[in-house]
Amino acid sequence: MSTLNEAPHPSSWFQKPLWHAANVLSAASASIPRLALDIALPMLCVSCTEPVSGEGVCAQCWSKLSFIARPYCERLGIPFVYDPGPGLLSMEAIAAPPAYSRARAAVRYDDVARAMVHALKYQDRTDLAPTMGRWMARAGHEILENAAALVPVPLHWKRSWSRRYNQSGALAKIIGRSMSIPVLPDTLQRTRATEQQIGLSKSERARNVQGAFKVPPEKKSLVQGRKIVLIDDVLTSGATADACARALLRARAASVDVLVFARVVDSFRPPI
Ligand SMILES: [Zn+2]
Repeated sequence: MSTLNEAPHPSSWFQKPLWHAANVLSAASASIPRLALDIALPMLCVSCTEPVSGEGVCAQCWSKLSFIARPYCERLGIPFVYDPGPGLLSMEAIAAPPAYSRARAAVRYDDVARAMVHALKYQDRTDLAPTMGRWMARAGHEILENAAALVPVPLHWKRSWSRRYNQSGALAKIIGRSMSIPVLPDTLQRTRATEQQIGLSKSERARNVQGAFKVPPEKKSLVQGRKIVLIDDVLTSGATADACARALLRARAASVDVLVFARVVDSFRPPI
């Protein structure tokens, strides 16, 4: 049995530096193709296609982004036009409370945010994920503080084949790494193909995704009794997040919060 005073096994003294060196080497080799690509192709701003260095969005487009900050509805994260004081909720949160506890978003879903989401989703601009994930971690720091695990919204298998990867999974990985929170990528599964939510009304969206997600029996122990943060790229009506939260709560998650990159805000609301 080991005690706190016990010296580490001598073998670990040399294993540690070796392990570290191996990590440094593998990190260095992983960055070589990326470096070559950067030299060959200058990065372009995803919104206006001007060349940029670093963040994926030029300074001018960045200044057009609306970062979401308080005052907002504590439940849904919808920005308010004026500060009603702490803890006030929006009309939507009271009239139709979602299954999830709180939702937070980094930015409003406007033209530049849309360009970023589309570039990550459809144009293989995986270089955007670290920036988007960092903004999300900042916007969601309160809900991430006590989170036990992050669960990305899954793609249907047909779509994950046609697309290279799950953008929500990529964002979850970035946030998980920076906040030291485990990511559970296959915990939530789609039970059936759903229509694209684009062009559907709010009630059609809810019907479309109702019961479309489940936690398979062998994964339930990963969720049970734990505070989960669901990760997605965009929150529109909240129907997908709600259906996912219901599935996680059916698997006995202690609570489900939602963190997205961008949320649709029709207009800034006055609080009730
Ligand atoms: Zn630009």
